[in-house]
Amino acid sequence: MKIIMLGAPGAGKGTQAKKIAEQYGIPHISTGDIFRANIKGGTELGMKAKSYMDQGQLVPDDVTIGMLLDRISQEDCKGGYVLDGFPRTIPQAESLTEALNGRGEKMDYAVNVDVPDTAIVERMSGRRACLSCGATYHIRYNAPSKENVCDACGQALVLRDDDKPETVQKRLTVYHDQTQPLIEYYQKAGILVTVDGTKDLHDVFADITAVLGA
Ligand code: ADP
Ligand code: ADP
Ligand code: ZN
Repeated sequence: MKIIMLGAPGAGKGTQAKKIAEQYGIPHISTGDIFRANIKGGTELGMKAKSYMDQGQLVPDDVTIGMLLDRISQEDCKGGYVLDGFPRTIPQAESLTEALNGRGEKMDYAVNVDVPDTAIVERMSGRRACLSCGATYHIRYNAPSKENVCDACGQALVLRDDDKPETVQKRLTVYHDQTQPLIEYYQKAGILVTVDGTKDLHDVFADITAVLGA
């Protein structure tokens, strides 16, 4: 199964993508996680991405598209995958569609996790991220069992620089301008599913699996 997660920054894409990946035994591919791992590792790609990410801007398509198409051509993606944070622009979506068409494949679902802007800032300021394994928590809604320690891998959790309120506002503007048009793109493609992302995260997951099938 091949799935795309759509939604504003902080809507819960990563949280749901991890659960989907576990349930269906497919890799969770987060472009944000790939960029953060490269920043941590001090690679050239990481240095290029960092200046954009810190400002709440998108990393340019010419960097991002090649990186993602490489990733999904790896062996572990043969049985499908869940994309989290890609595509984020119409050119990214078109490149993905073309690449899949070229291999006689297609996306199965684009799951739009719908959360209004008013709820986003609170979610982001309470988000704590593990930069080692990509797990995310929320200080109120999904707290780790030990404060500031990742349940999955034991590393320290951080408040991402780009989750500070000034940058979140910028990211929301970028989302509405550049990413929201993808909802219509995938609706026209006939694979869009929209779920109410304001529900408890377990209920959101139940709504998603009801559509995907268990
Ligand atoms: P969130 O999960 O909060 O939406 P991500 O971890 O997906 O955040 O992304 C963090 C940042 O990484 C984005 O603000 C952007 O700068 C960059 N980024 C991630 N994915 C993409 C993409 N597909 N295209 C361009 N930039 C991206
Ligand atoms: P995205 O990947 O879309 O940026 P995340 O999955 O990282 O979003 O979620 C953003 C924040 O909101 C995290 O702190 C996460 O724990 C929390 N969160 C995710 N889903 C829910 C939910 N249904 N209700 C409340 N908080 C949630
Ligand atoms: Zn971790």
